[in-house]
Amino acid sequence: MSKVRGWVMLEPGKMEMQKFDLPKIPEDSALLKVEACGLCGSDLHAFRGRMKTAPFPLIPGHEFIGTLVEVGKTASEKMAIVGGGTIKEGDRVAIAPSSLACGRCWFCLHMPHRPSLCTTRTIYGFNSIKNPPSIWGGYAEYIYLHPKTWVFKLPEGISMEKAVQTEPMATGLRAVERAYQPGEPFAGQGYGVGSRAMVLGAGPIGLMVILALRFSGAKLVIAQDLIESRLTMAKRMGADITVNAKLPLEQRIKQVQEITDGVGPDVVIEAAGVPQAFKESLTFVRRGGKLVEVGHYTDPGPIDINPWVVCNKDVDLHGSWAYPAIIFKDALTVLAKTPYPVEEVVTHKVSMDDLPKGMDLLGKEGVGKVVVTP
Ligand SMILES: [Zn+2]
Ligand SMILES: [Zn+2]
Repeated sequence: MSKVRGWVMLEPGKMEMQKFDLPKIPEDSALLKVEACGLCGSDLHAFRGRMKTAPFPLIPGHEFIGTLVEVGKTASEKMAIVGGGTIKEGDRVAIAPSSLACGRCWFCLHMPHRPSLCTTRTIYGFNSIKNPPSIWGGYAEYIYLHPKTWVFKLPEGISMEKAVQTEPMATGLRAVERAYQPGEPFAGQGYGVGSRAMVLGAGPIGLMVILALRFSGAKLVIAQDLIESRLTMAKRMGADITVNAKLPLEQRIKQVQEITDGVGPDVVIEAAGVPQAFKESLTFVRRGGKLVEVGHYTDPGPIDINPWVVCNKDVDLHGSWAYPAIIFKDALTVLAKTPYPVEEVVTHKVSMDDLPKGMDLLGKEGVGKVVVTP
């Protein structure tokens, strides 16, 4: 029997390559050969012990695409397939990692359109290897696909570099959609065509937010980061103005207000994952505007906020925790149609053997998205 190689996080700080049996695929399931998987900051946080809920030991990796190499007889009837009715061996697909909400908890019963609120859902890349058949993450050569998986057929000919960013784009796009408002954007209520937006943090998620803003009609996109290479990349992805977070806050506020009629951006999206950036977002956003928090997938601790500012600004605060799987469809549209060179966000590709070296690169100067191509 052939073996599957995969990196297992045993506990915070400990990762090793293990070999698993290639599982026998039940009728209602499928097997995916991983083409590429993005290394996410969340994976690194789990490795550093900053994700209390991570069910060790696990194979990380939730940003993966690949080719179906085995498809059970009834898999097409069981799975949610977007982009064509059935799946077959040889199909190139992206998989929404958080496909399996429990369907029974309070949130699943009352708010099924917001499946990321389900606290017991199964997520590829955050599932213990103790659950058979163990290969649940993209840091492996193959992934077992359970019958409730959401499968998205990739557009013909889309590059690996674009397609592998579907999951981060879904995260970024949902953050932008959180700022929409039913009604009329021209009246300044919520995000819409002509809005002025600011993004704090130009890492892989922040860059996807910028691309999504540009795709959906923002008039002005301002990006802030500490790292110069990220600001350059933000411009490549369509940001009009960049702000260096190293400058004193007063100076940055002045810079931003000067280009927003002295009131500040309509929408501010916090994608840095730094408590200080959330606090600054509240300072930047205009009165009656919207603030979306999408950066804190792990908990780096609290920060003091003045509630008077929230009240006085009459501001809307929105959290954005992952996304409903169907947003992958629109994420793929943005990636396929954007005029910006989104492939450039993938700055490093590492082999299976070199995966830990790839993890060491995350967050460094000159590093965008790192992907493993097993
Ligand atoms: Zn991620
Ligand atoms: Zn549930």
